Amino acid sequence: MRKNETVCTINAMSFFKSKLHNGIYGHMTGYFDVAIEALEKQVPKAPVSTGREIVCPTCRTLVGSSPYCRYCGQALDTVIYSEV
Ligand SMILES: [Zn+2]
Repeated sequence: MRKNETVCTINAMSFFKSKLHNGIYGHMTGYFDVAIEALEKQVPKAPVSTGREIVCPTCRTLVGSSPYCRYCGQALDTVIYSEV
């Protein structure tokens, strides 16, 4: 799934989740939360430089050369990193 498709899917799921909130299916919002969280990790984020280390922007553990964080599964932009 491309980044734009993933973001659109996240937005759509958030919209439908908001419609479920007060309805008879309100108990299902947790399923949407899990799916949205998983999709959000598919959108690459820039690793963060702490000055001495490059860490995952989501869980703050050291990142290697993989395009995904080995601890939390966050997709990583392997070219750019942001400063803390
Ligand atoms: Zn992580």
